[in-house]
Amino acid sequence: MKTLTPILLVCLSVGMFSPISSLAAEPIRVMIIGGQNNHNWALSTPYMKELLDRKPHFQATICNSPERDADSSEWDAWEPKFSDYDVVLLDYNGQMWPERIREDFVRYVRQGGGVMVIHAANNAFHGWKEFEQMVGLLWRNPKYGYSLYVDDQGQVVREAPGEGRGMGHGSQYDWMMTVRDAEHPVTEGMPTHWMHKHDELYHGQRGPAEDIHILLTAFSDPAPNRRGTGKHEPMVWWVPYGEGQVLTNLMGHVGQLGSMQCVGFQVLLYRGCEWLATGQCQTAIPDNFPTAEATSLNP
Ligand code: ZN
Repeated sequence: MKTLTPILLVCLSVGMFSPISSLAAEPIRVMIIGGQNNHNWALSTPYMKELLDRKPHFQATICNSPERDADSSEWDAWEPKFSDYDVVLLDYNGQMWPERIREDFVRYVRQGGGVMVIHAANNAFHGWKEFEQMVGLLWRNPKYGYSLYVDDQGQVVREAPGEGRGMGHGSQYDWMMTVRDAEHPVTEGMPTHWMHKHDELYHGQRGPAEDIHILLTAFSDPAPNRRGTGKHEPMVWWVPYGEGQVLTNLMGHVGQLGSMQCVGFQVLLYRGCEWLATGQCQTAIPDNFPTAEATSLNP
């Protein structure tokens, strides 16, 4: 994390001290990586840049990977400079990156970099142990690792490898998010329950599941037409890794942009990047934030 630029004090000619309120902090630099995904990254990657561009305190840059099965010379030419950014936003689910880039990425996080993982980006990089450690829960076979859910008493339940529910998702519908850590800067001030617009609700994610800090869950509806687990599935969580943090948000199936037009998704995007970069959040909960009764969209 970088620290926020402190408010400077200047000595006025009358001999008094006064803050310069107009002195802006440096923008938060976000690198967005798409380029390969089993989802419509060509729609979602530029859309997330556009969302960040609406706020002057972000400076977002797209740094897409080469296309699937691109020539090795294209991979050689791809040089994402992670250390030039405060946050790396992963909209990527594709081929394993070359070793030199994986090493750079791990070094970046160890040295304090922030990473946000969106939806299917947690499907990626099967067998890349450092990535799996820093994400914690991924789209993996049940035998691959542990799984977490939250029971009706609010306690986190840990399922052993090979036991309990498998990974997957049911049909898409409007679902309710539940804040599980109301003290965290990313969730502070959100209603405890709020409705998210028509999205794909992942369940039974697997991995090392160490040091997982769950911020929000979603109830996976077991009704026959929805095919969920009947469990409160972790939906947004963070994991410390070295000096850095990795925040995963499983919302955002695209398809169509609907789920990313949810005001709740957008606030999580802004606040997630702010928190990863500075440890604080400056985006307020807007008046049109979804409620326990109604979804809310902002195209
Ligand atoms: Zn999806």
